[in-house]
Amino acid sequence: MTTESKDEFLARMKTFEGQRSGAPSVARDAVNQAMIRHWTDAMGDTNPVYVDEEAARATGRDGVIAPPTMLQAWSMRGLVPPSASTGSSGGFPKLLAELETAGFSSTVATNCEQTYHRELRIGDVITTSDVIENVSDEKQTALGRGHFVTSRITFTDQDGEVVGEQMWRILRFIPGTGAAPPPPKPPRPRPAINRDNAFWFEGTSEQRLLIQRCAGCGTLRHPPGPMCPNCHSTEWDTVESSGRGTVHSFTVNHYPQVPSFEYPLLVALVDLEEGTRLVTNLVEVEPDAVEIGMAVAVRWLDAGDGLTLPVFAPA
Ligand code: ZN
Repeated sequence: MTTESKDEFLARMKTFEGQRSGAPSVARDAVNQAMIRHWTDAMGDTNPVYVDEEAARATGRDGVIAPPTMLQAWSMRGLVPPSASTGSSGGFPKLLAELETAGFSSTVATNCEQTYHRELRIGDVITTSDVIENVSDEKQTALGRGHFVTSRITFTDQDGEVVGEQMWRILRFIPGTGAAPPPPKPPRPRPAINRDNAFWFEGTSEQRLLIQRCAGCGTLRHPPGPMCPNCHSTEWDTVESSGRGTVHSFTVNHYPQVPSFEYPLLVALVDLEEGTRLVTNLVEVEPDAVEIGMAVAVRWLDAGDGLTLPVFAPA
């Protein structure tokens, strides 16, 4: 490895732009019915213009045509080893070797676009020539840091007429340098629901803010409990709060940060207009704008997995 900078490396890779990927490659076989049939069988394409002379002529053509998407198939090297192939020399293998040496050893194909200039007929002999069109700056991708390499293949027939073109792009990247997706946010801690407070959470699930009321003396209380602190009665019912209140006190929580919450986290004591006080969060307001005594109104927070919680926003 050299100590060349990223800019120097890129400049060197850019010298490959415009170079032929390799020598032009002449198809080993002319366009033929047997290969077309193999292709249409594999694709499940039953269009008769690819296999039936009469049907093809009925469409105004001179005879059967090759499926346009076979364009690249005619000159593919197949299983011939690179040393015996005309496509093994030239700029492209050298560019890949340079990228590999610099650590960009993994490859993924990202784009391919074909353009068809005319339909291919039985007997056409296709020649392909590849040119390296572009080597991109180093990009951070989800797979890793790498360079996109764009090539253009031109397909010509036996008369030198261009019959099609193909742009194709690969990404050469350094394995293990991908941006890890952020882990999903865990849900808020679940409340411990028991026989004394279940009614309150059942209320919030219906977006109703309930306050426990002593059946003996009418005193409202929160948090929920089994016995009235005033008259010690264990009989109770509920009243539904209007959801309006005022900020009794608040704090802005920066640390420690629990992944379930957004920070800064506004934690507040809110006095409901009915007369009880609850611990909650303030939303839709910047910490600097919160004042003690500020009028607030309930909002409903979907905390996931069926848990709905009351939070408060400026009224
Ligand atoms: Zn009571």
